[in-house]
Amino acid sequence: MSEAGKSEPELLRQHTILARFGELALRSDDLDEILTESCRLVGEALGTDLAKVVELQDDGETLLVRAGVGWKPGVVGKATIKATDDTSEGYALKTGKPMVSSNIATEKRFRYPAFLIENGAKAVANVIIIGGKDRPPYGILQVDSREPREFTESDTAFLSGYANLLAATVDRFRVIQEVRDKEAGERRALEIQVAERTAALAASNAQLDAFAYTVSHDLRAPLRAMEGFARILLDDYAAALDDKGGRYAERIVAASMRMEGMIDALLAYSRLRRHEPAVRVVDPTPIAQRAAEEVRTRHGREIAIDVAAPLPSVMAEPTVLGQVLTNLISNAAKFQRDGVPVHVTVRAEHQADRVRIWIEDDGIGIAPEHQERIFNVFERLHGDETYPGTGIGLAIVKEGVALMGGSAGVESELGKGSRFWIEFADASHPDMPTNDRGRHQE
Ligand code: ADP
Repeated sequence: MSEAGKSEPELLRQHTILARFGELALRSDDLDEILTESCRLVGEALGTDLAKVVELQDDGETLLVRAGVGWKPGVVGKATIKATDDTSEGYALKTGKPMVSSNIATEKRFRYPAFLIENGAKAVANVIIIGGKDRPPYGILQVDSREPREFTESDTAFLSGYANLLAATVDRFRVIQEVRDKEAGERRALEIQVAERTAALAASNAQLDAFAYTVSHDLRAPLRAMEGFARILLDDYAAALDDKGGRYAERIVAASMRMEGMIDALLAYSRLRRHEPAVRVVDPTPIAQRAAEEVRTRHGREIAIDVAAPLPSVMAEPTVLGQVLTNLISNAAKFQRDGVPVHVTVRAEHQADRVRIWIEDDGIGIAPEHQERIFNVFERLHGDETYPGTGIGLAIVKEGVALMGGSAGVESELGKGSRFWIEFADASHPDMPTNDRGRHQE
């Protein structure tokens, strides 16, 4: 059959195959699948049953059989060809032109590798697969025939088009791989950095912990001695003390107890600061009730603490929330006007997608100019050196609430009671992620 007389069905088949390959090249994300399928399709298009893609290695000379169909085991992924000047491959790479040996047996120009002969190849067409911009060729598409055969101009034209499509595909994979490598490298660097920082942080936290416990232990021992001896003075040597001596001994007891309270509060505060609370859906009602009970017990005498149950669910962490509520209720009960019975109320209100919990008392109140700084550590507005407060309670409230993504504040007037509030994300709000909603009820 003459070149011009290439049959219509054959051309149609080649076009169809180009289209099929183009589709596969876009769809697949597996380069080996694409290369193997390209060999199968090209064999189908040209009516041969042997084809392969050989990949040029970094030395610029060795070609590795990267993919192929019709070959005996030991060829694909293993066999190599040297693209020297006396080979068809070397020639194709050098000139960029398709090279055809229609009969290897009578071929005078080129040598062919042994595995080709062993696999029964009698004729070969080599078409270069170019590389990306400014890059060496990727390799060669080789169509081998078990029969001597001519490759027509139409065949080689088809092969060139096909190889260009392959080249574009291979280059796309190279670019993707480069981006992935870069990302993986950056990710690894970042992971190493994070791991180093985490380790350093953990080490310094552990050090801090050990330090805090050692110091608190070392402080507690002499404090206990001071307090103990002062109590012995008061109990066993009362007769030997005059009024002043008795008062001083009482002062020593009070001061050392206060100091102990401070140590406890400082430890609690430093623990809280290193805490990363796992915020979840929490029902604050039983937590507030427990806090109220604790304050009642501590107070000794009968006091009224009303929790307006049920309080709506909030996004919080039960332990931290418990501590915060205990501190606020405790303050509300503590800072009462003389002669007025303690009455504390805990209630809640919805504010858009937030829930605000109010802790209200009718105690001594706080002047507006002091309302901000009472949340600072060690800030105390009332009491002398015998006052056991530490000025840490509200600092824990502020920071604890912030750690849970909430906020805190106060509304008050001197002599007119205080209304402290803490605010959290509303756990029952429809914007809340459903997997959090109702997942955990404390
Ligand atoms: P502490 O209670 O240990 O003194 P806090 O940090 O809890 O420390 O409170 C800081 C100060 O804020 C208190 O010393 C007090 O002067 C003032 N305060 C806190 N709560 C109230 C309240 N409910 N009513 C009046 N004053 C308050």
